[in-house]
Amino acid sequence: MQAVDVIVREVGLRDGLQIHPTFMPTDRKIAWIEAEAAAGVTEIEVTSYVPPKLIPQFVDAEEVTRRALDVRSLTVAALIPNSRGAERGIALGVHKLNFVMSVSRTHNLKNVRREREESVTDFKKIVEMVRTHRAGERAKVVGGLSTALGCSYEGRVPVADVVKYALQLAAAGADEIVVADTVGYADPVQVRTVFKAVMAELDPLPVAAHFHDTRGTGLANVAAALECGVRRFDASLAGLGGCPFAPGASGNIVMDDLCFMLDSMGLRTGVDLEKLLQVRSIVHEALPDIEMHGALARAGLPRNYVRAGEQRAA
Ligand code: ZN
Repeated sequence: MQAVDVIVREVGLRDGLQIHPTFMPTDRKIAWIEAEAAAGVTEIEVTSYVPPKLIPQFVDAEEVTRRALDVRSLTVAALIPNSRGAERGIALGVHKLNFVMSVSRTHNLKNVRREREESVTDFKKIVEMVRTHRAGERAKVVGGLSTALGCSYEGRVPVADVVKYALQLAAAGADEIVVADTVGYADPVQVRTVFKAVMAELDPLPVAAHFHDTRGTGLANVAAALECGVRRFDASLAGLGGCPFAPGASGNIVMDDLCFMLDSMGLRTGVDLEKLLQVRSIVHEALPDIEMHGALARAGLPRNYVRAGEQRAA
């Protein structure tokens, strides 16, 4: 596999589609996954194992997972809201189970009707369940911390709480921790404070960043997280998705713009920018009413652009 400096992970099929009212046909989801993998994206969160009654967009979770697992060299991840979701993922052989809990108490209660301590206990049980499988065949279990940089109910979230729950998920056996700015409140100064604190405690456990561009600070936050040593970022193609708490707001950071910024900085992502931009048309044709963002798509690559890997060779 090609050497990369930063791993970019597509979450648009889950985070981007989950609040979109129109169902994206399964074949189109697969076309999107295949095209993005062909463009060089190596990890995609393809769906969520929530009950389909709750989010009809994920009624095809089983089929999407199965077909995504056929895509060569792709790490297939899926969101799990609880242990039942984990069971579904384990049965399918998904590579990564992305568990989420909120750092702020109110958000966790509203979202999963759980005290945070109960969520940590749930996570422990999921890790134990996964560990009954043979090491080579076992899914990775990811501990995601929502509202780590701000909460739509509580506002600012104490850094000490982020560190506390990151440590608890790590102690429970997480293979990776994701620190998420679920509602797009974060700024670069705050990002530096939170990620420095978390990474100092968790090292060498991988810590990933999940930013939303709700208020235009998304890529600035990426730059701040890079300075702290973060090398894994979630993003969605065309910045799909919104914020259930802010109607009309933009979604995740734009995958295309993220890859361009990293590449410009000389950080290899393994992603072919032209091929990635072409994937946008698959989404647009399948969901003409979905709002698509992206500065690179509007402006195009700079004249005589030299890719990150090639800069070094030159
Ligand atoms: Zn998100």
